[in-house]
Amino acid sequence: MTDLPPEETLDPADWESLRALGHRMVDDALDWLRDVRERPVWQPIPDAVRASFQAPAPRTPSDPAAIYRDFTERVLPYPMGNVHPRFWGWVIGTGTPFGALADLLAATMNPNCGGADHSGTLVEHQVLDWLKELLGVPMEASGLLVSGGSMANLVGLTVARNVAGGADIRKVGVAGAPGRLVMYASTEAHSSVRKAAELLGLGTDGLRLIPVDADYAVDVAALERAVAADRAAGLTPVCVIGNAGTVNTGAFDDLDRLADLCAREHLWFHVDGAFGALAALVPAYRDRLRVLARADSVAFDLHKWMYVPFEAGCILVRHPKEHHDSFAVAPGYLARARGGLAAATVWPSDYGVELSRGFKALKVWMSLQEHGADRYGRLIAQNIAQARYLAGLVDAEAELERMAPVPLNIVCFRFTGRGGGARDMDELNRELLIRLHESGVAVPSSVTLHGRSGIRVAITNHRSRREDFDLLVRETLRLGRELVSGA
Ligand SMILES: *Cc1c(COP(=O)(O)O)cnc(C)c1O
Repeated sequence: MTDLPPEETLDPADWESLRALGHRMVDDALDWLRDVRERPVWQPIPDAVRASFQAPAPRTPSDPAAIYRDFTERVLPYPMGNVHPRFWGWVIGTGTPFGALADLLAATMNPNCGGADHSGTLVEHQVLDWLKELLGVPMEASGLLVSGGSMANLVGLTVARNVAGGADIRKVGVAGAPGRLVMYASTEAHSSVRKAAELLGLGTDGLRLIPVDADYAVDVAALERAVAADRAAGLTPVCVIGNAGTVNTGAFDDLDRLADLCAREHLWFHVDGAFGALAALVPAYRDRLRVLARADSVAFDLHKWMYVPFEAGCILVRHPKEHHDSFAVAPGYLARARGGLAAATVWPSDYGVELSRGFKALKVWMSLQEHGADRYGRLIAQNIAQARYLAGLVDAEAELERMAPVPLNIVCFRFTGRGGGARDMDELNRELLIRLHESGVAVPSSVTLHGRSGIRVAITNHRSRREDFDLLVRETLRLGRELVSGA
């Protein structure tokens, strides 16, 4: 027996030195977040740093303190920038300090929230109940926390396909459906809807993109005609995807009319409310979003307008049995027991794609309690007010042109200069955006509307202040004039 090799573990040999390092890491992390405003939003990664990421896989141990030092030198200084008050690119949330600490606790407990009877799944069920209550979705709805809006759309649209596909799609596949399956969304629908249609076997040919009106809301009459034409051609319409806040401009489709249409036509009504659904927390938007109660499924994000650290999204489905029956599989090794850890409680993995799942519910659960839903409502309202403020600044400048209405938290505009002239303003605005990023002052992203390029500011940022938008406009004018004068 004496010649057995010594056994190893990944736990530290010296807990006290890891404890000291851990305390330093937490201190540094909180300082880093506290002082974020003093740093550039983004900065290019120097070539030497970039090249340093090409090295062989480590084969032998390194000292955690040295690894942490390396992190502070090569990783931490070159962030995406979305924690910064002047980050407004794409639709990306900021996170919160307490949310980050919650993630540390989640990783410490490290449960697998795919199922079983433990506090992890209990917390997730409560978070889902809270979200139903806050968004006005019926409490009997089922739900699942997922990685984000893309996965939420995929899960919701899977149930839609299986319920409205006219066959046991899980068994026979889409090829066995009575007539080609078709879903409907507007031309402003998010790319994840297209991905879902492709993954679900409908293909892009099975996703009709219906034109929008001047407010970027779907043309409901055109949608209705498309459904009728498809039925007449022997196809099987399955589902309408309504937008609560489009990614380009924050537009709302007429969700009540879409709900009526779906009820009349026996179509599944899915709402992509990635960020817009959260506007239900704002009194002025509550009425418009009461329609969420009529949706068959609602997809939204918590890492955008709930400012929860990445990743966290949510899908709610008004038909728990259909939701369960779209995903549940019960091989012997996942058998449910009468009691014990494997008790037959609701297993989240029966409601989505993933089996192993992290404890993302904890950061949502702790964050919602830290601030309370009303404060989230005020922050969302603040972001909406800031978008209007920025729109006002843009409208007041002769050298700037607003490109779209501002119904929510997104402002699209472009630099036109005085009189515009013969310059390629698309190219100029693209270059202006790059210079803005490289200046470190602000990070909006780009937009193309009616074939014209511009700058898009999407505000899901609890750190932004009005003065940040003043600075954005000043810098945009300065860089635009510099470009016009050929600098
Ligand atoms: C961001 C977004 C998505 C996708 O969500 P992810 O969390 O990025 O996967 C879907 N729809 C809309 C409208 C979005 O803005």
